[in-house]
Amino acid sequence: MKSNSVVRIAGITKESVCDGPGIRFVIFTQGCFHCCEGCHNPQTHDPNGGYEISIAELLAMVDENPLLDGVTLSGGEPFLQAGVLSEFAKECHDRGLSVMVYTGYLYEEIVAKADKIDWQKLLDLTEILVDGRFVREQATQEIPFIGSTNQRVLNLILLRCPTQTAFL
Ligand code: SF4
Repeated sequence: MKSNSVVRIAGITKESVCDGPGIRFVIFTQGCFHCCEGCHNPQTHDPNGGYEISIAELLAMVDENPLLDGVTLSGGEPFLQAGVLSEFAKECHDRGLSVMVYTGYLYEEIVAKADKIDWQKLLDLTEILVDGRFVREQATQEIPFIGSTNQRVLNLILLRCPTQTAFL
């Protein structure tokens, strides 16, 4: 795959066991307008900060590690760059990797903006969605993968199947 598309990011963790199930390649995207009080990643807020990197470069890094179970798109707010991240997510699926996304939006807010075609595209390529803004008063370090108890870990595979429960 030779994509010239670029995404603006704050950083990468090539191997993490804290940002979703299994071993994951994590991208911290750049740009966020949610302004959560107590945000742990304020350096990711400026949409002009960070640096640009091509999807091809990211995939080359992913391909270096045969132990990966999936990729995690964190922030920042990944849905601000949903189009290019959908390209990346599709390529990851083609490699047998799962896609997990952290967003400050609620799942319902994303679905309601179905007119934003790229948002729907990224949602369709996501297996696990952690949704909701960080709320300092509800901060927790006890529950895996979330920062505050208002946030939800949604299994979108089950959510797409209406007869099953949506929550992991
Ligand atoms: S959504 Fe995440 S990155 Fe954005 S302000 Fe809230 S905690 Fe920070």
